[in-house]
Amino acid sequence: PRSGTGQRMTSYVNWITGPSRSADIEQSLTIGVHGPSEVHCVILDNGRTRMLDDPNFRDALTCIRCGACSNACPPFMAVGGHQFGHIYNGPIGLVLTPFHHGLHEADLPNTLCTQCNACQEICPVDIPLPRQILEHRRRGRKSLRKRSLLGVWERPGLANAVLRAGAPFSGLVPGAPKLAPRPYRDRAPLAGGKGEPLTIFASCMVDRMLPEAALALEQLARAAGFDVGFPKGQWCCGLIAANAGDFEGGYKLNTSLVECLRDSKGPVVTPSASCFGAFTIDALEWGPQDGASDLRSRFRDSTRFALELVADQPDLVRPATDRQRVAYHDSCQSLRQLGLKSEPRRLLELAGYEVIEIPDIANCCGFGGTFSVEWPAVAGRLADWKLDAIAKTGCSVVASDNPGCLVHIAAAARRRRRPLRIAHVLELVADRLEPTAGAAR
Ligand code: SF4
Ligand code: SF4
Repeated sequence: PRSGTGQRMTSYVNWITGPSRSADIEQSLTIGVHGPSEVHCVILDNGRTRMLDDPNFRDALTCIRCGACSNACPPFMAVGGHQFGHIYNGPIGLVLTPFHHGLHEADLPNTLCTQCNACQEICPVDIPLPRQILEHRRRGRKSLRKRSLLGVWERPGLANAVLRAGAPFSGLVPGAPKLAPRPYRDRAPLAGGKGEPLTIFASCMVDRMLPEAALALEQLARAAGFDVGFPKGQWCCGLIAANAGDFEGGYKLNTSLVECLRDSKGPVVTPSASCFGAFTIDALEWGPQDGASDLRSRFRDSTRFALELVADQPDLVRPATDRQRVAYHDSCQSLRQLGLKSEPRRLLELAGYEVIEIPDIANCCGFGGTFSVEWPAVAGRLADWKLDAIAKTGCSVVASDNPGCLVHIAAAARRRRRPLRIAHVLELVADRLEPTAGAAR
């Protein structure tokens, strides 16, 4: 990463040489002859001492004001500087504003972040901006809209009732994600057959909005000889709550999930890359994780898991004849948190597809969990950019490994009447499964 302005050092450096001095007169040094005879230096603290004392924010003091984080930030590209709050704008502005002007001034702007991690990736001094923005979100006030959504999501029984009641009407709102008429849990298998045990953690989004991804995982795992189970007490890993700044709510959801899956056997595979990252990495910050380390070590993201299966057992899929072209969308968490770049592409190639890169300026599709609920117009604009970039590939199929991105892009495609198939990578792999695979195992 380089400085956004190409500078070798920050422009926030002042050279102060002190009061005017001269030795022109009889070679004796005299102060204050041609100018000021005194220099007064007034240092404005503006919350910087508090930043220095706070281990979460200390690194932000190393900012060289190069602007690279703003240039890389998708919501900033969509709305420009004024929405981002006082004086300093862009990602670093979201971090500094609460210290310079008070946390309340940043309540609204700090929600303007999809947690895509592009700013940290580009920052020449590697400031953990997304985590710092999240910390402000955690400490700040939450909007009524956000509190209402979390109030439902953090009560699985209530969420179940609301989502089932809302499913028939969910497609009526243009640009909003659609709920599946039948969640995955209604058709999920109980373990107890033959083969090595494998547990599916569907994730709340796949369960309710993209059950096809869990069905495809089930199909692939069965074909590879696994005995697939789905403990029905599972719900959300806690990411939606934690991303909204409610670590306590995220921790409660995560603890319930640990309780539900603790006695499972074998790998626990999830088709949601961001939930895999949340469960295995982020959750360590939400609260004590007593007894969860065995479960965490058994968690697998579906992309690497499926790639290993198909690479080890090439006869799982039909030999490729005519390779269909597929545009691949990297989700921010897959790419920047989990380092999944070549894996989904290789998996699709092994399954007989030709992968086409999407030439877009902002990788993030604009979903960002509660971001798309708080800022639907900005989220819609980012999704439109994604659709425009997809159109340049000429592909009619788009794939990714994160349900949030898939349902968000699909909603935008419906709004713009784009006839695209937007599918989880696993669905495309399942389409290519050899019909006899699994029968002989
Ligand atoms: S994480 Fe992404 S959306 Fe958030 S401030 Fe950084 S670049 Fe912008
Ligand atoms: S936070 Fe990093 S990328 Fe942003 S202005 Fe400061 S040094 Fe540049």
